[in-house]
Amino acid sequence: MEPKCGKVYLLGAGPGDPELMTLKGRKALEVAEVVLFDRLLSPKILDWASDEAEKIDVGKLPGRHKLSQEEINALLVEKALEGKRVVRLKGGDPYVFGRGGEEGLALNNAGVPFEVIPGVTSAISVPGHAGIPITHRGVSTSATIVTGHEEPGKDVNLDWEALAKVGGTLVVLMGVSRLEQNVSVLIKGGRDPKTSAALVEKGWSPEERLVVGCLGNIVQKARDAEVESPAILVVGEVVDLARDLGPRSVAILRPENRAEESVRQAQDLGFRPLIAPVIGFKRLDLPENLAGRIEQAECVVFTSATGVEIAQEDENIASALEKATLATIGPRTEEALRDLGLEVSVVPERFSSSGLAEVLSTEFKQVLLLRSAQGSPELVEKLEAAGVEVDEVLLYDIAPSGDSRLDWLIRKAEPDAFAFTSGSTARYLIERAQELGLEEQMREKLAHAKVAAIGPPTRSELDRLGVRVDVMPERYTFKAMLEELRRN
Ligand code: SAH
Repeated sequence: MEPKCGKVYLLGAGPGDPELMTLKGRKALEVAEVVLFDRLLSPKILDWASDEAEKIDVGKLPGRHKLSQEEINALLVEKALEGKRVVRLKGGDPYVFGRGGEEGLALNNAGVPFEVIPGVTSAISVPGHAGIPITHRGVSTSATIVTGHEEPGKDVNLDWEALAKVGGTLVVLMGVSRLEQNVSVLIKGGRDPKTSAALVEKGWSPEERLVVGCLGNIVQKARDAEVESPAILVVGEVVDLARDLGPRSVAILRPENRAEESVRQAQDLGFRPLIAPVIGFKRLDLPENLAGRIEQAECVVFTSATGVEIAQEDENIASALEKATLATIGPRTEEALRDLGLEVSVVPERFSSSGLAEVLSTEFKQVLLLRSAQGSPELVEKLEAAGVEVDEVLLYDIAPSGDSRLDWLIRKAEPDAFAFTSGSTARYLIERAQELGLEEQMREKLAHAKVAAIGPPTRSELDRLGVRVDVMPERYTFKAMLEELRRN
């Protein structure tokens, strides 16, 4: 009997965003019995492989040595000869500085059938995502893709001085470690130091950054910004297009539980969201008689979707809410209640404490407020002034998030805009910057960006902190705030 022989797919995973893998690639991954992969930007891609598939990390892992190319080749051959369907998963495209060709040759030599499934290469898509087309009519009609990091002795030497004379767009992969040498040879070779240059770091990831300058200063700029691998260097006038083609980035500082929907809303409006939760929630102990107090209340008032989320976690409270007359401060909180199948009787026309106090006082003699310990005293004061008896239960308090993305934002990011959803968010942002010894830098970032406040209390807290506010929407919702930012 013929020995059964499997097949190897040399598969390009794209530049990091899982949705940039081809359909053919995803199909191959789903039916693979063995998957060999390198360190990938998004581990989510591996979720497409079946649970039963054997997954082998051939990149460097702590405590395990990195497989050499020869060992990888041998492993591919071995698994295929066992009759397995093997996927060799690689970042970007397998044939662009990916050593896919070497693996193909080794498989050929061993008589193992293989197929290449191309991927979206970072060389084109990473600059593209940052707003840099590698060619542009009237600006650049050619692009040269090179590696900035040759293994000495192993490769044919790249003539950087000649490269300087080619003109057009130069795209340098693996461009960080030898940035200084490469740039200086380009200048020596005759490329004008004033030529625009940019580094795109961690393209297509939430931590993507674009550092723009010219050949003469890009080394210093990269150093100041502490650019790390993976990054791509782009040299040429096409870099200037990023000003108009690049998405504006907006720092979204809301708590983690609101992050996902905020990302969607920001992307829908063409922003690049930078998620950096400043605060998180701390649940407070709820009074034992809370269900009873809900039943007795003429009207139960929620002022945040987070409050709704926390309240419904308790079964007794959830069932008491089913019978209660409910009011909310705005549409997002209302939606959170409706999602639970609860009907909301009162939503004010103006989404603010005073708007809510006004409608409540015309309809009720007594209300129960379920809200955050940070809620403004205004609502209670206004209600009491209007002769409404107020019962209040604090569901949660806020606390610093301790999120590493916030520290990254403070240290490294340069957002085009900041979206503030509460006064405490603003306060804790400045506090965290102080703790990191970077208050001045943080204030500079805010001064250079557009700053949006969701509503008047947030704006007055920013005023108090000495942060200039550029934008406040008419309707106090997150979406309206982003729409207003887009117009400005
Ligand atoms: N085969 C890959 C390239 C492998 S070489 C492809 O086609 O994309 C690895 C280099 O690619 C990195 O050093 C970096 O320069 C670049 N790179 C890959 N992914 C990147 C990303 N998401 N952001 C920035 N650079 C990236």
